[in-house]
Amino acid sequence: GLSDKLSAVFKKMRNKGRLKESDIKEAMREVRLALLEADVNYKVAKEFVANVTAKAVGDEVLESLTPAQMVVKIVNDELTALMGAENARLNFSSKPPTVVMMCGLQGSGKTTHSAKLALHFKNQGKRPLLVACDVYRPAAIDQLKVVGEKASVPVFEMGQGDPVEIAKKAIAHAKDYGNDLVILDTAGRLHIDEELMGELSRIKETVSPQEILLVIDAMVGQDAVNVASKFDETLGIDGVILTKLDGDTRGGAALSVRAVTGKPIKFAGTGEKLEDLEPFYPDRMASRILGMGDVLTLIEKAQTDFDAKKAAEMAERLKQNTFDFNDMLEQMQQLKKMGPLSSVMNMLPGAAGKIGDDEAEQGEKELRKVEAIIHSMTPAEREKPALINPSRKRRIAAGSGTDVSDVNRVLRQNEQMQKLFRQMSGGGKKKGKRRRNP
Ligand code: GDP
Ligand code: MG
Repeated sequence: GLSDKLSAVFKKMRNKGRLKESDIKEAMREVRLALLEADVNYKVAKEFVANVTAKAVGDEVLESLTPAQMVVKIVNDELTALMGAENARLNFSSKPPTVVMMCGLQGSGKTTHSAKLALHFKNQGKRPLLVACDVYRPAAIDQLKVVGEKASVPVFEMGQGDPVEIAKKAIAHAKDYGNDLVILDTAGRLHIDEELMGELSRIKETVSPQEILLVIDAMVGQDAVNVASKFDETLGIDGVILTKLDGDTRGGAALSVRAVTGKPIKFAGTGEKLEDLEPFYPDRMASRILGMGDVLTLIEKAQTDFDAKKAAEMAERLKQNTFDFNDMLEQMQQLKKMGPLSSVMNMLPGAAGKIGDDEAEQGEKELRKVEAIIHSMTPAEREKPALINPSRKRRIAAGSGTDVSDVNRVLRQNEQMQKLFRQMSGGGKKKGKRRRNP
């Protein structure tokens, strides 16, 4: 993919040490090719490379001690700028309900992302209402009802009526029932046509949405730019949701859409599940493209997935300066919630895309083993690992179908965690009813 290609270009540059202007120009030719191969729009790639080159060939870079790093930094900054620099949020109306109109081609992910957005904002305390404005197939209405139910968000539908009327009635309904966010799931076509655009324009004129969000499948590549331009010309979009970024996308759409339309990507869809939605951060996406991993996204993911109460409990235990097997089990369960280990590990710096299925599977296996071992401990042993003498070790190993050496390893891991936590809490002598450490 794009990341690999760019990494290779930068590696070559680093190996050179000192760089001449010709080295940079050569590297930039390769960057341009990599971008084109990743379906980045031709004009965007050309302009991008011109910008980077202009900044990179100055003495400041060439004479510096680490020219290759400086070039990477420039590329990173320019990529970030290309995608809009900052995370763009949704605009909420000061006079609720805020109306969000989802539009896009068929299959781009409108219905799925209507529900994802509803869930996302419900979790932030909003009271969303999903509206079935895709009336041409009964199955489309049913699909919205199914995902609405999954998100525990009400769905407003009037069967196969007039979508403009439905939108209007839905907003009146929202006012009556205290829904402060109305999300219109509209119809799509396989290609842009006048009829579809006419219908969307009528909905827009009738209900004046705060946000018209264009849903684009990141896998469509070059065509994403044409679709985005056409929708923007006709409707005036406020932002983009880029979906299916989890797939084998070449990344080009993410880079071109903003540059061509000037409209920000506000959210990214990263999977079929309703939780698979992330606010789009251009700087993080740039790092991801450059193969630096995405630690921030990982951290944020961990934070949202981490049940707040559990987190508070964990912090309390931290203060009490202990990390017993209950904590360890807890932590492993939180890790599991974040998704398959392969996707979690691939977000770590230096790991991007490098953790293969085999390694991830190996990791999952190891985690399951550790879990089995902890489950075979008695509650007393979990709280007080020091109790675990050789005969207990044998019992635990037998119970979990592992070896005593496995049990020893898990005990050592736990000891290390405890040590780490003692250091983090500054020796832990001050606060709390400190539980005795084994
Ligand atoms: P619509 O026709 O625009 O309403 O598109 P749908 O919401 O029905 O989505 C079309 C298909 O794409 C469905 O099978 C979804 O499960 C799938 N899908 C949507 N978003 C994503 C995503 O972010 N990642 C993946 N992998 N699949 C997605
Ligand atoms: Mg749909």
